[in-house]
Amino acid sequence: MTFVYHGIANRELEAARDIASAVGIEDHRFVQLPDLREAGDVHSATLAARPSVYIPGRNGIFYSLAASYAEEVGADLIVGGHNKDDAKLFKDASPSFFLLLQQALWEGSPTLRKKRTKILLPLSEMSKAEVVELASSKKVPLDLTWSCHRNGRDHCWECEGCRARVAAFARARVSDPLRTAVNSGKIQ
Ligand SMILES: [Zn+2]
Repeated sequence: MTFVYHGIANRELEAARDIASAVGIEDHRFVQLPDLREAGDVHSATLAARPSVYIPGRNGIFYSLAASYAEEVGADLIVGGHNKDDAKLFKDASPSFFLLLQQALWEGSPTLRKKRTKILLPLSEMSKAEVVELASSKKVPLDLTWSCHRNGRDHCWECEGCRARVAAFARARVSDPLRTAVNSGKIQ
C-alpha cells in the first residue's frame, strides 16, 4: 500500500510503483489522503517543535487502513519497513506502539483476531545502514528507491532525506547506484 498524503513527492510515488512492479505485486493500492499534512506544511504552534516531516497520527492511520485491507483480503501479515532510526525520531514507529496497535486491531476485529493477523516489522532492530547492507546483499534494486523529500526529477542530495541516504550508504560501505550514475554522468 502506498499512502498519497499532501505534498508527497511524485517521484516517491513513481518509485513505489516501480518497486512493486519489479517484485510482482499485483494489487498495489494507492490510498488518497490529501488532508493529511506534514508538520512543515501545517502552520500550527503545537507542531512547531516537531521534525518538518512529522505527520500527526501517521502510523495509527496508515496501519488502520492496512488492517482494513488485510481484513478484506484475509491477509496473515501486515508488513512495515520501519527501522531502528525511525523509532528514535517517531514514537509511532516504535515496536511498543505496534504491539499495542495490534492488540487494539484484534479487539476491534474478530476476523483479524481469528486469523491472528500480525503486524510484522522485520527491519525494526536494524539501523538504516544495516538495512542498506542487507538490501545490497539480497540484490534489492536500490536504483529504484527514492529518498528525497523534494519534488525534483532526481535526488537533490541536500535535503534531510538525501543526507540520511548518503550517510547510510557510507556507513554500510555500499556504493549507491544512484550516486554512481550521477558521478558517471548517466543522470543529469
Ligand atoms: Zn533531497
